[in-house]
Amino acid sequence: MKDEADHLTHGFQFNTQHSPFNIPLLIQLLPGNRQQTATGAIANQSAAFDYERHSVSRLSPAPPLDTLARRETLMSATAQTLPDASPQTALFESILELIRRTSTILPDDVVRAITAARKNEAEGSNADVALNVIGCNIGMAKESSLPLCQDTGTILFYIHTPVGYDQLELEEIATGAVRAATKKGYLRQNSVDSVTGKNTGDNTGPGSPVFHFEQWREPNVEVKLMLKGGGCENMNAQYSLPHPDLGGRDLKGVENAILDCVLQAQGQGCGPGILGVCIGGDRGTGYMNAKEQLLRELDDSNSDPELAALEERIVEKANQSGIGPMGFGGNTTLLACKIGKLNRLPASYFVSIAYMCWAYRRRGAQIEATTGSVSAWLY
Ligand code: SF4
Repeated sequence: MKDEADHLTHGFQFNTQHSPFNIPLLIQLLPGNRQQTATGAIANQSAAFDYERHSVSRLSPAPPLDTLARRETLMSATAQTLPDASPQTALFESILELIRRTSTILPDDVVRAITAARKNEAEGSNADVALNVIGCNIGMAKESSLPLCQDTGTILFYIHTPVGYDQLELEEIATGAVRAATKKGYLRQNSVDSVTGKNTGDNTGPGSPVFHFEQWREPNVEVKLMLKGGGCENMNAQYSLPHPDLGGRDLKGVENAILDCVLQAQGQGCGPGILGVCIGGDRGTGYMNAKEQLLRELDDSNSDPELAALEERIVEKANQSGIGPMGFGGNTTLLACKIGKLNRLPASYFVSIAYMCWAYRRRGAQIEATTGSVSAWLY
């Protein structure tokens, strides 16, 4: 798929010189080798970057041509044919690259939404500055292959496999790819034992990463990955209707519950937010389905006309609240709201809301089942 993010992020006219973030401090939080990459990436954006000093003067002179020719002959004589990569190795590389892309390059639909939102904010306003910083962050992360945010988030895999495909092996390979991605600095070490607080150091452990497997009757494997930040996860909410202040078991009650969630968040959870909502289900399946709504494209339209209208209404009303990006005030409190539904028991009526931050990291890949290679990138 054509990657438009580069073009779009440059449309922001990011101003790293006036970023209110303490960038040197942020860099100190990175592992040693990533510090160098980040420093280089920032320097690249500055007119003061001294290419002479940093690169050219450090090169040694090239050897004479006949020396090069002799070396090439010697290398050709000793070279051995490399065996083809096994499907397992190719699958590992495919998932590792999926993790890198997800953690460092925001999908085009999200970049488009943030770009459009900035046009609705008054120039120089707090909202304008906040969206500028966000845009700056997006551009720098992409250029330097560094994580978009220090919060790795919950690592959620959503996987479809053909009937008979070995899901256990895929889970092992994907877990190995998470470890490798952490070592390479694509993911910050961010998974801790819930009782002792000890960091496992490689983002794996009980419940990390999370796998949702489903079989399908397609010949290929589809792997989608979402990194769901902790700050925005804290803003999730679940309502049980009827509610004395919010209303009954109908779409008006649902609307009030969703708007209440936005109001309670007040921009915390790193807004502008994107909401995934599930009407119905139980407390567990409701939240699962709400998160799955976040796999939809931001500019798609709900196939249920009533829910499509509700999604639009929610975004419109939330953006009139004045909460704005990061709660700094402004016209962009939500970028989107995606609503699904599950059957429920007559005794209960849950509205589950998964709040996603601007660092809306989700990507996917179609992978050939026999070779493990990526046939198409998603989002
Ligand atoms: S909520 Fe999102 S943007 Fe905020 S720290 Fe977590 S991942 Fe980063």
